[in-house]
Formats: sequence, structure tokens, C-alpha cells
Amino acid sequence: MKAFIPYGKQDISNEDIQSVIDVLHSDYLTQGPKAISFAKEVAQYCGTKYAVAMNSATSALHVACLALQLGPGDIVWTSPNSFLASSNCALYCGATVDFVDIDPATYNISLEALKEKLEKATISNRLPKVLIPVHFAGQSCLMREIKSLCDKYNIKIIEDASHAIGGEYLNQKIGNCQFSDICVFSFHPVKIITAAEGGMVLTNNEDLYKKMMLFHSHGVTRDSQIMTESSHGAWYYQQIALGFNYRMTELQAALGLSQLNRIEQFIARRRILAQQYEEMLSDLALVLPFQHKDTASSFHLYPVLLKTIEKKKRLSLRKVVFDQLRAANIGVNVHYIPIHTQPYYQKLGFKCGDFPNAEFYYFGAISLPLHFGLTDSEQIYIVETLSKILKENL
Ligand SMILES: *Cc1c(COP(=O)(O)O)cnc(C)c1O
Repeated sequence: MKAFIPYGKQDISNEDIQSVIDVLHSDYLTQGPKAISFAKEVAQYCGTKYAVAMNSATSALHVACLALQLGPGDIVWTSPNSFLASSNCALYCGATVDFVDIDPATYNISLEALKEKLEKATISNRLPKVLIPVHFAGQSCLMREIKSLCDKYNIKIIEDASHAIGGEYLNQKIGNCQFSDICVFSFHPVKIITAAEGGMVLTNNEDLYKKMMLFHSHGVTRDSQIMTESSHGAWYYQQIALGFNYRMTELQAALGLSQLNRIEQFIARRRILAQQYEEMLSDLALVLPFQHKDTASSFHLYPVLLKTIEKKKRLSLRKVVFDQLRAANIGVNVHYIPIHTQPYYQKLGFKCGDFPNAEFYYFGAISLPLHFGLTDSEQIYIVETLSKILKENL
């Protein structure tokens, strides 16, 4: 039996460790130069003007919503096939959430569903103020088409690119905000690069950047240009908005900066592993992740889908396959339980059946281990075990 193989895992080098130790010996543990450099370097990497480092992508999404002035009475649409944070951020602001069903091929927001829902929402006067497309598994949504639809209806866009730093869309880095107002990254340990916990907002809009700077640190400014009266002295600061303490520590930023040095290596290895999965799994009764020609995924996840159509069979087979893989020490996971089926969201009025493509996908999905440190021999073991389990149960 192999040692447990997790579905995702950070890779920490001696340089990463040293950079965190160096911070501990420095003058700043928080609100120092590292968080500023980290934001600057990620912005540079993506080709974006502005970035703010934060303590999580969840905070980053919240601050992005606040900067776009979301509040009670406003509506946000996002993908049901995502982590809860993609929609909770709207609820934090008192806004209403709704979902756009996914495309059965990419598992990202469906353009057709979006188009149709926008037409209906125009008639019922329920258009959203903000759309949050999620780049599921690291594959970009079709942002050019999404942007042109949103422009038509005057809707702002926050990209939830928590999975997708290092991925590309139309040969440009995800995060450059060419087709959005704001883009958000996560640096949770299972993501592409890690800061232990951490997130970031990126934007090309100076006004949004200044707002996000304010909201991520108590709504407090030391910039006399935006104060309501002249400064009392060098100690003086003003609170001009209701903000939060969402700052990234210097330890996190040092780790993130050090990890950023290896991002191309991380992505390259993930892409090789994904390609090997595709080659080795092609004969099994599985739908493998489709890649749209306009995208180059960062491959945060490698979700495979059982081909069985009928819901009950699909659910029972998925459970058997999942449990047997786990029993073989293979740390498979499922991404995602559709957000609208969660009890909290059902209390808001959503029902099972509301977004059938996301639900159909969920019933048959299994995420196979995929991370930088996964070895070829571990991958072969995963494929052989999965193949055997499928043969025994189909
Ligand atoms: C991980 C994740 C988040 C939240 O990221 P944190 O940094 O853990 O707050 C949000 N959205 C998606 C799609 C994610 O995968």
C-alpha cells in the first residue's frame, strides 16, 4: 500500500522556509514591505496595473464586492459549481445571489444560459449589478464573450480566479483584467502557489484599487489628499469608510513571493500530469476535462466524470469508486457540491433541480490527485487502481 496521496498539496522549498525566517528577524511582521512587493510582483506577472494582497481570497472577494458598491437591493450572479465563497461575498454586502448554470463541457458558466437569463432578467427588471465568473479547475471562462454580454447590460465583472493563477486566456495571463473589473486569486495551500492563507485582488482601475486598499484595512487613510480636513500632524489618520482587517502578514507575503519564483515550474508540472492522465485514462468509462482552444489551464484540479447517466446509479457508483480509491490511500475529492443545494442557500429559496447541469456534473464527479509533488509512479498507481475499480463495478 502506498502512503496517502492527497488531491492537492503545497510544495515548500528551503528558499521558501528561509524567506519566512528572514521576515521573523526583520522589523515588520505585518503592514510592511513584503505584502506590497508581493502585490506588485503578481500584478507585474499578470500584466495588471494594481493589486492588493489580503489574508484570503474570501476577503478579497468581499472587498471587490464592496468596491463595486454592492448593497441591499443589488443582485449578483455566479456559478453554482464553485466554492461557497464565490457567492457568500455578495451576501456579506446584503446583496441577493443567483446562479447561472454551467456548460456541460467546461463546467464553467454557460454562455447560452447567461444570455437567456439576461434576457429574462431584463423583462422582469432583475438584472444583476455584478457577475462573478469562476475559472473552474484553472480553465478560464470565455471572458471576451462574457464581457461583451455584460457590457450590453452594464454589469460589472469580478473574476474568481482562485484556481487559475498562471493559467492563460487568449494567450494572456489570467488576472490581467482585460475582460473584467477585478480579478481575485487564492493562495490557500492546495492552490497553485501558497501563502499559507492568502488572497489578492487585481484591477486596472485606479478608483477601484483605492477603494479596495481602504476596505482591506479598516477604511482608514493616511493620505491627506482624501481626508475631509487638513491633517492634525504626522500621527493623523482618518476613517472614511467602514473597512475590515483583511491584511496579509509579512510572513505570508514572504512565502507567497518566494513561491512566485517557481510558478512556471508548478504550472508546467501540473500540465504534464494532466496530459499524462488524459493519455492513461482515455480508454476508461470517464469524461475527461475538456479544454477550450482559447484557454490554457493552470490545472488546479483534474476532475473526471463517470459516464453513467441515470442519477441513482451515478450517485451510487460515484460513492463506491470514491470510497474504494480512498481505501487505497488515494485522496480523491469532489468539487463541487452545487452551492444552491446547501441548506443555507435552500433557506434563501433555492431548490435541488434549479441548475441541472451543475447537479448532473456533481453526481458523477471525482477530482483525482494533482499537484506539483505528485510523482509519475504515484500517478500510475492512481490510474491502475481507478481502472481496476471501474472494471469491477461497471
Ligand atoms: C479556494 C477558493 C476560494 C476561497 O479562497 P480562500 O483563500 O481559502 O479564502 C474562493 N473561490 C474558489 C473558487 C476557491 O476555490
